[in-house]
Amino acid sequence: MKIPVANKPLKETVIDKSMLGDVRSWSYSSLKTFESCPYRLYIQKVKKIKEPSGKAAERGSLIHQEAEDYVRGELGEQPESLKKFKSEFEYLRQGFIDAKVELEGEWGFTLDWETTGWLMGNTWARIKLDALVQEDETSCRVIDYKTGKKFGNEIAHGQQGLVYAIATFLRYPHIEHARTEFWYLDKGETTIKDYSRATAMEFLPGLFRRAVALTTCTSWEPKPSKDACRWCDYKNGTEESPAPCKWGVV
Ligand code: SF4
Repeated sequence: MKIPVANKPLKETVIDKSMLGDVRSWSYSSLKTFESCPYRLYIQKVKKIKEPSGKAAERGSLIHQEAEDYVRGELGEQPESLKKFKSEFEYLRQGFIDAKVELEGEWGFTLDWETTGWLMGNTWARIKLDALVQEDETSCRVIDYKTGKKFGNEIAHGQQGLVYAIATFLRYPHIEHARTEFWYLDKGETTIKDYSRATAMEFLPGLFRRAVALTTCTSWEPKPSKDACRWCDYKNGTEESPAPCKWGVV
């Protein structure tokens, strides 16, 4: 698919595959980790030491699976975990039957923002969505389910929504308006933001530069701080297995 010229990243940022570094592709989650502490991403992606997921993340995965199964019609009853969004999930379920709802989208993009597969040799960006609803010929809703809290995450989730909007416009050239929605399933709260194509695409060059910084990185400096290290398990070690990071602060 050819992307309209107006959607191309900044011309002065010239990069080709030969310039890619140790980590050659990115997602919103890896970008967040990189910007918080490059060394944490290095341990994850280059040293390939898995970070334990923790109880909250496991619960989140379970609820996401329940939501997907319910909307696909693979569960008869609506799970308790979705009850604060009862009618919204019923709407998605009907929309899925009507082929208006796309679930668990795994979108890959090349360095030129062309669409590609999730695990192809030329996949540079990976964007994963919970649900996309085609409202009409030119507008859609992009929905992300959250099991964490809204308070304190407004900026991060706002940025995540913008990445979803940009990816939607890149993938679907006929879409002119995208509404991003975060559904906080535990609290029954919602955050909604509307983007026109022109508004979202203004942020594409900045996103491109940030992602290039990650995918061309070769020096993975630790950036210890209370905020970054608080949730990072790499600072913890045992007698048998030393901590992967010795710079962690508590
Ligand atoms: S413990 Fe802190 S400094 Fe070490 S990798 Fe994690 S976030 Fe970075």
